[in-house]
Amino acid sequence: HDYTKDDIRNLVKSENVEFLRLTFTDMYGIIKNVEVPASQLEKVLANNMMFDGSSIDGFVRIEESDMYLYPDLSTFMIFPWATDSHGGKVARIIASVYTAAREPFMGDPRNVLKENLANAKAAGFDAFNIGPEPEFFLFKLDELGKPTTKLNDSGSYFDLAPLDMGENVRREIVLTLEEMGFEVEAAHHEVAPGQHEVDFKYANALEAADNIQTFKLIVKTIARKNGLYATFMPKPVSGINGNGMHVNMSLFAEGTNAFFDENDEMQLSTTAYNFLGGILKHAQNFTAITNPTVNSYKRLVPGFEAPVYVAWSGSNRSPMVRVPASRGQSTRLELRSVDPTANPYLALAAILASGLDGIKDSLEPNESVDRNIYLMDESERIKAGIKDLPDTLLAAVRDLEGDEIVRDALGYNLSQQFIDAKLLEYRQYRQEVSAWELDSYLDLY
Ligand code: GLN
Ligand code: MG
Ligand code: MG
Ligand code: MG
Repeated sequence: HDYTKDDIRNLVKSENVEFLRLTFTDMYGIIKNVEVPASQLEKVLANNMMFDGSSIDGFVRIEESDMYLYPDLSTFMIFPWATDSHGGKVARIIASVYTAAREPFMGDPRNVLKENLANAKAAGFDAFNIGPEPEFFLFKLDELGKPTTKLNDSGSYFDLAPLDMGENVRREIVLTLEEMGFEVEAAHHEVAPGQHEVDFKYANALEAADNIQTFKLIVKTIARKNGLYATFMPKPVSGINGNGMHVNMSLFAEGTNAFFDENDEMQLSTTAYNFLGGILKHAQNFTAITNPTVNSYKRLVPGFEAPVYVAWSGSNRSPMVRVPASRGQSTRLELRSVDPTANPYLALAAILASGLDGIKDSLEPNESVDRNIYLMDESERIKAGIKDLPDTLLAAVRDLEGDEIVRDALGYNLSQQFIDAKLLEYRQYRQEVSAWELDSYLDLY
């Protein structure tokens, strides 16, 4: 929506909005917010909401901790539930973080994505369109209301009720999203028991990233309301599929899909091939961003529909990049490695910069792999030029450290803070003794 300040003033009055939440996302992909009563609306609209940035992870600037929140009026949304005894509502506006000197703060992931979109524009592309496919599990709560890993149904791909007990919750999620202005394209039970997917309409990357953040919040809220717990954790239960977030993407120039070329054998343009070449070149190095948790690497293993190797295909389902069958304006590449713990702003920035690097250097992708990679042995994979994705967070961070293009896309300070934080996370994990170790070693030794 292209809301003006007056539109917002009117909506706040007519809809009885009593509280405004200004939200932004930290480096870890977690939504932060400051809530103000509607009486503070003018201050918000004048970009004068201040906060102390030094307490936000990844925002380390102790000497200059006062920051401003600049609301992006187009993101104004009213939460469809009433909040207080007067029936007053809560609305949110996504904000960008500005420094005390009133410059965009480059520790704010949303500003980072905006800058990368400006680079795309300079390269001749006015939109980087993204259709995400986030997956999640619905788990039961225990007597104390704490989340468990007990699955709430035993359904599978596209199953119907009564097997799919999540169906009603999923419907409520879809209805709530629609009330909030989302265009939901499909919602279905996923392959694993208790697992679901909701797909919403593609949008330019900034709006898509905002939508992903809003979506996760809505899913968690509606699940709770129904006595369930929703999680986007990549691999909450071993032995069954994990949660991915496939990213469908295309570049547009002057309203036309720049990935389509009807004269090519695969009907893909040189731009599409070069973008793909860039993705394949940098994939190992941006994996720390697209798969940023220790748990992410428990999903990227053979046998669960998640990719393990850097490869692409026009048809086959197993590779990291797939070209879905649609052409014309819907021509797109589907990157299947990403999981929903990724900070969507940073992930899309890293993917975009990688693809643009491929376009700049006219990188050709290696040959597409149309057979099952999981049936190839290592020497066959090496012969076909197929590299492995990193298999731990540590390996992924080491790969990221050496990639100037991806680091530059994130900005030097933010990328260094990200690397330091993730090395610490990995070190903490490494010191823990897991149930698997006790099961395997306790009686044996
Ligand atoms: N859940 C699978 C993953 O981890 C994807 C399954 C699918 O959408 N076909 O990526
Ligand atoms: Mg899907
Ligand atoms: Mg899916
Ligand atoms: Mg998909």
